[in-house]
Amino acid sequence: MTEKCPDYVNELNDFLDGTLDAATCAEIQKHIGHCDNCRIMVDTLRQTVTLCRGGKSEPLPAALQARLDGLLKARWEQKFGRSRSQ
Ligand SMILES: [Zn+2]
Repeated sequence: MTEKCPDYVNELNDFLDGTLDAATCAEIQKHIGHCDNCRIMVDTLRQTVTLCRGGKSEPLPAALQARLDGLLKARWEQKFGRSRSQ
């Protein structure tokens, strides 16, 4: 679980929207195929998108919102909490 995680945070919305370019899209799909952290984040975002497309535009359920916040915060700390080593 120490492999590098590309910075997908900004791309994930486009990824889930299907508006991301094919190359980046394939890259993300490949990565989440073997990265639990990113897969969980994608799953969470996908649930969010599904909920929003379900015909309702209600606020996120508190639990889902908290989970998403936690994941994004963790990713942020992971990304900026240590020096770049690429
Ligand atoms: Zn990852």
